[in-house]
Amino acid sequence: MDAEIIAVGSELLTPYRQDTNSLFLTDKLNSLGIEVRFKTIVGDDSERLTQAFRAALGRSRLIILTGGLGPTEDDVNRQVVAEALGRPLREVPEIRRRIEARFARLGRTMAENNLRQTLVPEGADWLENKNGTAPGLWIEKDGTAIILLPGPPCELEAMFESVCLPRLARLVPPQCLRNRVYKAVGLAESEVDQRIAPIYKNYANPATTILATPDAIEVHLRARAPSEAEADALLDELGDKIEAALGDYLFSSGGESLEEMVGMYLVLRRKTLAVAESCTGGLLAERLTRVPGSSNYFLGSAVCYSNELKTRLAGVPQKLIEEQGAVSNPVAQALAEGIRRRTGASMGIGITGIAGPGGGTAEKPVGLVFIALADERSTQVREFRFPGDRQRIRHWATQAALEIIRRRIRD
Ligand code: ATP
Repeated sequence: MDAEIIAVGSELLTPYRQDTNSLFLTDKLNSLGIEVRFKTIVGDDSERLTQAFRAALGRSRLIILTGGLGPTEDDVNRQVVAEALGRPLREVPEIRRRIEARFARLGRTMAENNLRQTLVPEGADWLENKNGTAPGLWIEKDGTAIILLPGPPCELEAMFESVCLPRLARLVPPQCLRNRVYKAVGLAESEVDQRIAPIYKNYANPATTILATPDAIEVHLRARAPSEAEADALLDELGDKIEAALGDYLFSSGGESLEEMVGMYLVLRRKTLAVAESCTGGLLAERLTRVPGSSNYFLGSAVCYSNELKTRLAGVPQKLIEEQGAVSNPVAQALAEGIRRRTGASMGIGITGIAGPGGGTAEKPVGLVFIALADERSTQVREFRFPGDRQRIRHWATQAALEIIRRRIRD
């Protein structure tokens, strides 16, 4: 069974409110093996909601509407659904009794408007709302289940978990959805796709999605099967082929970040790391220290932004800077070697570059970054030309530095 969610509320079409209910619902539906195929956000408007609901009726066997069950004029879900299904609304005295009792408990009298919430389309079940007045509704028609839930997340979540989930579990055969995330670095999204499309195209299940993020190209696999073990077996079969196709560009198959993997290797090899950062201004240190336990291998970072501090903190000879320029291969090398020597770390990283937007020349353009890694074996320096604005250039530099460390210590 596939599901469709219609989130109703004009505020959800403004920049100030987000439809978080559908995220909650999707997570819970997935736990039953139900996938969400469509999501719509509609304002509080009968005509537009009718359009959206009719479209949903034509294509989905489970439709969940959220919001629009309140007592005010703009709460239209109940009426729209009843009309579209041709089911007249009838007052349910039990709901009225409960709403009146709730008001009485709070020492208030019920407004006439609240009577709208006592109306239920013919043949529908109403669902108790433990955290508010608006009951939910469950309607079945021609093999389609339609669920109307209140908008406030605390009301919707309690109602969905206590009433809807157990009821849905009885409707759908036991199914399990399992996800796996592979992450690659050093390849563009199109290159990743070129390598793995011939493989994943042969599999409808697991479904494959490729996502480009600033930290990695991610390959998401999603398998559906009657049991966890069967879903995992499907993931293993396709996953093994994807791993082989991505080779050493693949850095994680369990969702870990690049900095986590670097940390893992450093711990495994019993190595420590210190960095001297110029154009990244401490960003590499920030990424490394996102990982809990990084104090076990990361000694620290010197942000050597000025030439003077390159000399004072990392021992870069002043003459070298004068002769070669601060953004140069030899200065990156001296930063890496200097910070390693001064901190006693097993590995030192030096980063120097031009993040822009000013400061570039024909010879040394914006985006030029040198990254050096020094360890007990040798020092390697790499030159990069990163595209984009200042923020992106600085981010790419940290990404490249982490990848250089990963490749050096992995072997
Ligand atoms: P009420 O009885 O409170 O009027 P309702 O069912 O009519 O409930 P709405 O009036 O549409 O629901 O929304 C009530 C509150 O819930 C608002 O603060 C709204 O922003 C929030 N809300 C509604 N829909 C969503 C959603 N999809 N995701 C997150 N919050 C939502």
